[in-house]
Amino acid sequence: MFNKILIANRGEIACRVAATCKRLGIASVAVYSDADANAKHVAACDEAVHIGGSTAAESYLRVERIIEAARATGAQAVHPGYGFLSENEDFAHACEAAGIVFIGPPVEAIAAMGSKAAAKALMHAAAVPLVPGYHGDDQDPELLHREADAIGYPVLLKASAGGGGKGMRVVERTEDFAAALASCKREAASSFGNDRVLIEKYLTRPRHVEVQVFADRHGGAVYLFDRDCSVQRRHQKVLEEAPAPGLSAEVKREMGEAAVAAARAVNYVGAGTVEFIMTSTGDFYFMEMNTRLQVEHPVTEMVTGQDLVEWQLRVAADEPLPLSQEQLKIDGHAIEARIYAEHPARGFLPSTGTLKHLRMPEGVEFTIGAAGLGEPGRKAPVRIDSGVREGDAITPFYDPMIAKLIVHGATREEALARMNRALRACEVVGPHTNVEFLQRIVTSEPFATGDLDTGLIERHHDALFAPVKKPFKEALALACAALLTREGGTAHGASPWDALSHWRLNSGYTQTLGWRDVENESVFTATFARDGATQTLEHDGVSEGFTWSEGTGQHEYRATIGDARVTGRVFIDGDTFHVFCLGEALAFEWQNLLAHAADAEGGEGRLTAPMPGKVIALLVEPGTVVEKGTPLIVMEAMKMEHTIGAPAAGTVKEFLYAVGDQVADGAQLLVLDVG
Ligand code: ADP
Repeated sequence: MFNKILIANRGEIACRVAATCKRLGIASVAVYSDADANAKHVAACDEAVHIGGSTAAESYLRVERIIEAARATGAQAVHPGYGFLSENEDFAHACEAAGIVFIGPPVEAIAAMGSKAAAKALMHAAAVPLVPGYHGDDQDPELLHREADAIGYPVLLKASAGGGGKGMRVVERTEDFAAALASCKREAASSFGNDRVLIEKYLTRPRHVEVQVFADRHGGAVYLFDRDCSVQRRHQKVLEEAPAPGLSAEVKREMGEAAVAAARAVNYVGAGTVEFIMTSTGDFYFMEMNTRLQVEHPVTEMVTGQDLVEWQLRVAADEPLPLSQEQLKIDGHAIEARIYAEHPARGFLPSTGTLKHLRMPEGVEFTIGAAGLGEPGRKAPVRIDSGVREGDAITPFYDPMIAKLIVHGATREEALARMNRALRACEVVGPHTNVEFLQRIVTSEPFATGDLDTGLIERHHDALFAPVKKPFKEALALACAALLTREGGTAHGASPWDALSHWRLNSGYTQTLGWRDVENESVFTATFARDGATQTLEHDGVSEGFTWSEGTGQHEYRATIGDARVTGRVFIDGDTFHVFCLGEALAFEWQNLLAHAADAEGGEGRLTAPMPGKVIALLVEPGTVVEKGTPLIVMEAMKMEHTIGAPAAGTVKEFLYAVGDQVADGAQLLVLDVG
C-alpha cells in the first residue's frame, strides 16, 4: 500500500478521498487554486501545494504542474477524483511516465471508453446490448440523415466525445434533422474539440440505471450492484439511489453480468460505472462507461458497507479485490440528494455567493455503510459529503454543489422518510439552493412510489413548482421575535418597552414593524403591542397573544402566537431575516421605515445579471430605443447562453460591462432611461 498520495481535485470529492487516506494511515497531499487557498479540502489533507489561478484551466487541469507537485511532495500515486483530469488519457499517461501510479484504469481503457462511438463498437463485439442506432465513422450529413430516418423518430444526436449531458439534441421529425445536426456538431466542436456524432433511438420515459464495477490486475472483476439515477434536470443527475427499485433479481443479475463483460472487454482495472438506459418493460441497453469514481458512489457504499476509495487504493497498489462476487451483499436502501447552489425556478441557473449560514442535518461525514465500517455496530443513517463550510463561497469557477446528503434505511420507504426529514433540516443562507425543490421531489407521488424515469421533473414541472403553503404566521412571529430582541436588547427584562411599561403600566405601547416577504415580494406590517402583562401581534387584521424567548441554540427562538407554539432559527443578514421553522425556509426583509425614506427613488432603469457569468455579446448600441423584452445582452454561465431582455421600454444609455467581462450575480448591467 502507498504511504502518500496526491489528490488532484477539490471540493467534496477531495475531502472524501482524504478521509479514507486518514483512516488507512496514508498521508494525503492537496492541490489548490487561488480561489481555494482556504478551502476545506486543503485543511482535510496533510500537505497542500498551490498550483495556480482560479479557473480550472489555470489550476486543476494543469497536467505538468500537478505531476510536479506529486514529485516534489514524494507522493507515490495520484487520485484524480471525478471531473477535471479523471478521464484524461494524457494525464494518466503523464503519471505513468513520471513513475507515479494513476489511481484509475489503464490509459487504453480510458481511451476505449472516451469515445462513445468507439465504445459502442467494442460493446457490440462483447455482446453487451446497445440502443438501436448508428455509431459509424462515416459522418457524411446525408448518410447520417438516412440513418436517422431508418432508425425512426424521435432520435437522439450525441456528441461522441460528449459528457455531462452536453452535446445532445432530440430530433422529432426528419424536417428538423439537418438543423439539429449542425447545431449539435457546433456544440460538440466548441465543448469537446471534436464534432463526431452518433445517433440513437430516443427512448420515451426511460430509466437511467447504472452498475458499479471493479476489476483488479489479477483477473478479478465484480459488480457492486445497481443504482437508479433517473431523476435528472438538464440531463444531469439530482437524486440517486441504490439498489434501483422495482427490478427483478434476474434483470439485476443480467445487468451486473453485462457490466462486468463490458469492463472485461476493455481490460478494465479499478472503479468504473457502466450506464444503461432501461425501457419501461425492463429492457436495458449500454449507454457508456465512466472510467472513474462517480459522484453518487456513496449510495453503493451505504448498501454494501464497502469503502470504494479504499478498494481503488488497494487495486492501484496491485492488491486483489477485497471481496468476491459471492461475498458482496446488499443491506437496505440508500438515497443521495445533491444540494446545489442554483435557482430551480429560473431554469436551474447556478447561483453563487458566500455561505453566510450553513447548517446541515445531524449526520456523519464519510461513514461507510449502514453499520459504519470503521466503527462496528454504529448506525449512521445520514451521511453528508461536503467540500464547503459556513463562511466559504460558491464561486463561478467550479461546480456549484454545496453538499451531498446521503441517507440509509432498512427499506426504500424508511430511506425516503429519512431523506425528507434530513432535507427539512438543511439551512442555507447566501446563494439560492435547490433544497426546497429536492423536498418536493422526494415527497412527490411518482418519486415516492418509485415510478421513475428521466422525464420525471419535466413531466411534473407544474406540480413541483406550484406555490406551497408555508408556516407564514409562525415564521413571522419568529422574525418579529428576533427583531424585537435585537432592537430591545433581550426578550425579557431589558427591552425599552419593558422599561417603560414599569412606569406607565396602563398606557400600553405599540410598534409597527414593516416587512417584505422576499419570496412573493409582498409588503405588509405587523403591529406589536404591549399592554401591561399582555402582548399581542397583529397581522392581516388579526391580533393574537404573542410571547417569545431566545432558545438555547445559536440563532434559536421560541414563540407562541395564538395557540401555535414554534421553535426555529432566525439568521439575520443585514435587514433580511431568514427564518427556518417547521421544515421550511422563509425570508422577511425588515422595512426600516426611517432608512428607506431616504432612497425612495425608482429602480426602473436597472437591469441586473440573473446569474454570475460572462458577457458574450451586447446586442444594441447605446442610444437605441428598445421595447420591453428587446434582447440586450447575451451572457454565458456554465457553458450555456442566456439572453437578457429589457425590463421595460426605454432608451439604452450605457452598458456597464464589455464583452468578455465576468459579472457577479445581481450586478447592474446597463443604464436604461425609462419613459
Ligand atoms: P453524458 O455522457 O453527457 O452524461 P449519456 O449518454 O450518459 O450522456 O446520457 C445522459 C442522459 O441522457 C441519460 O441519463 C438519459 O437521461 C438521456 N439519454 C441518453 N441516451 C438516451 C436515449 N437513447 N433515449 C432517451 N434518453 C437518453
